[in-house]
Amino acid sequence: RLVAPQPVEAAEERFDRAIRPKTLSDYIGQPAVREQMDIFVSAARKRGEPLDHTLIFGPPGLGKTTLANILANEMGVALRTTSGPVLEKAGDLAALMTNLDAGDVLFIDEIHRLSPHIEEILYPAMEDYQLDIMIGEGPAARSIKLDLPPFTLVGATTRAGLLTSPLRDRFGIVQRLEFYGVDDLSTIVARSAAILGMTLDSAGAVEIARRSRGTPRIANRLLRRVRDFAEVKADGHVSADIADQALSMLNVDSSGFDHLDRRLLLAMIEKFDGGPVGIDSLAAAISEERGTIEDVLEPYLIQQGYIMRTPRGRVLTAHAYLHFGLEFPGNTTG
Ligand code: ADP
Repeated sequence: RLVAPQPVEAAEERFDRAIRPKTLSDYIGQPAVREQMDIFVSAARKRGEPLDHTLIFGPPGLGKTTLANILANEMGVALRTTSGPVLEKAGDLAALMTNLDAGDVLFIDEIHRLSPHIEEILYPAMEDYQLDIMIGEGPAARSIKLDLPPFTLVGATTRAGLLTSPLRDRFGIVQRLEFYGVDDLSTIVARSAAILGMTLDSAGAVEIARRSRGTPRIANRLLRRVRDFAEVKADGHVSADIADQALSMLNVDSSGFDHLDRRLLLAMIEKFDGGPVGIDSLAAAISEERGTIEDVLEPYLIQQGYIMRTPRGRVLTAHAYLHFGLEFPGNTTG
């Protein structure tokens, strides 16, 4: 339960494992992150020390888990994976940490969801490689201190603002992943296609890249669906035209928006006159969780200039109206 479960490997997982980059040089895009991590890894290796604790933040599917794996690989150490919501008991964390070998990477996904008492245990572990926990209950309870091997904590979170500041302050390295441009996504799609032995021409790769919401995970997922389409409806070869037909069939529009994006934008137009509207009202209007809007939907729509965040709430831009072929009525935020 502690470590991510390993069920029978589904085709998608096999695919995912085959195409997941394993070295920094295979990690496409994110030039600043790559350049910095290359230096930090080389320096740590030279000194024979573990890599500094590293916090990676960015929306889902941008490559946080991939980067954590690469860091362990480049350091030549093992990686243990867990996640914030899974770590409930102090003993769970203690078991994981005492099993680390010197230099290993402990990867905690969704680290913003750690409970406060687990966070408290992490602080001395991160600072001094000390584990200080209570065992037993009532009069028999006692506190034990254990030395831990030097290790690297890699934490991933969708938004840096969700972390408590004492936790954030204990990371020596903080990296923020950005949405990927069409060029980088085309390269990612082309690389995946080559690994899968697919024939994909460059216009086909660009078409998939354009419609992937700046996100490698989506690009690879769309590639798989386009492959199915090409195998059934064509000779397996993916051109821009085949990609377009397949993606349109999947309701991914020319801007890469799926039905959820459209539902959000249309609700803002139809129910809130383009805003400003508070996040909770918006969540209620489209029956989605607030967290899904904040973590998954909104970051890309904001980055692309369809939505703005203002002190009074979310507001649509002219760009959003244009997307639906509507006239922009202007809004009241000035
Ligand atoms: P996150 O942990 O941020 O949700 P992942 O690390 O699981 O995202 O990445 C999702 C998928 O996208 C991975 O399976 C990987 O194949 C691909 N991917 C992510 N980042 C890159 C990259 N920089 N270059 C190539 N492929 C990438």
